[in-house]
Amino acid sequence: MGSLEGGRKCYDKLICRYRWAATPYYLSLIDWSDPNDPIRRQCIPDPKEITFYLDGSEDDPLAEERHMPVPHLIHRYGDRALLLATGICATYCRHCNRKRFWAGRPRVINQRALGGIIRYLSNHPGIREVIVSGGDPLTMGSAHIDRVLSALRTVKHLEVIRIGSRVPVVMPMRITKGLCRILARHRPLWLNTHFNHPREVTKEAESACDMLQRHGIPVSNQTVLLKGINDDSEILGDLFCRLQAIMVRPYYLFHCDAVRGTDHFRTDLYKGIRIMKTLLGNIGGLCLPTLVIDLPGGGGKVPLNPDYLTGIDGDEAVFKNHEGRTIRYKSPWGADCPG
Ligand SMILES: *Cc1c(COP(=O)(O)O)cnc(C)c1O
Ligand code: SF4
Repeated sequence: MGSLEGGRKCYDKLICRYRWAATPYYLSLIDWSDPNDPIRRQCIPDPKEITFYLDGSEDDPLAEERHMPVPHLIHRYGDRALLLATGICATYCRHCNRKRFWAGRPRVINQRALGGIIRYLSNHPGIREVIVSGGDPLTMGSAHIDRVLSALRTVKHLEVIRIGSRVPVVMPMRITKGLCRILARHRPLWLNTHFNHPREVTKEAESACDMLQRHGIPVSNQTVLLKGINDDSEILGDLFCRLQAIMVRPYYLFHCDAVRGTDHFRTDLYKGIRIMKTLLGNIGGLCLPTLVIDLPGGGGKVPLNPDYLTGIDGDEAVFKNHEGRTIRYKSPWGADCPG
């Protein structure tokens, strides 16, 4: 955790600003002899959260607060909206991009806010998917989860529910048959979780994902690229292959957002692109997520892809393949011709 400059006072100030909690299970995965243990760094507060800032970082760089038409709902893309169900998490990830929520008492969505959201969704027939996020929605009681999902299911045009939850990673024992049966009643429902390191893919996490899948709930994963934790092609290659082996589909690899209090986790923009380039040549497509950056000011997510199409030469497209070899391709050019 580095030295606690200022001692106890600094530590109090730190967790006053950015709350701390972790499950005994997730803590049990830490190798305490390693000060840079990747599990430790994700869940144990670091004084850098309140002392280390990079230019341009903000509490809410994605301008989520400006895209909330009704409380607890972010609507940035036409066909999908994101519901902030609770401010509570099982373990508070130090790299969380909604750290700004952690101040004050955590709020869980109530009947009134839910009513406002259902009205908004009903008036917006273009929304076909709702992402239930937070915080971590699976920290709510099963009855409340059922209530939220049942309310969403009263919106006739809503097709898909997606739950964003880190519970399979940090509290896999929460995934019980009872919970899975509730979730299964509201299918089509996808669960998107958040593994960042191969050491998180334990027997317990695997069983949790397996139980979800056996109830007809596909599990996918988003990883955040974190400096000193997983910004390495071997570690990420290992993680993505292990996820595929437990049938969890790697969906996104996020470039770390410019969020205040997480600057010490941020990598160079090209780091992820270089890693993806290495992985693209070495592991199968089902193991590979899309590297994306969520642009500041609510610009939305855009993919960061290594370039394989390097240029156009006469009537030929010029490619560089994963081995760095140049290959030419004669294209039937039409109206879409770039030159
Ligand atoms: C990320 C995000 C989504 C989901 O986007 P996908 O590309 O479908 O994963 C939806 N709404 C908001 C506000 C988001 O930040
Ligand atoms: S579980 Fe998700 S919302 Fe909660 S602290 Fe971690 S990243 Fe943030």
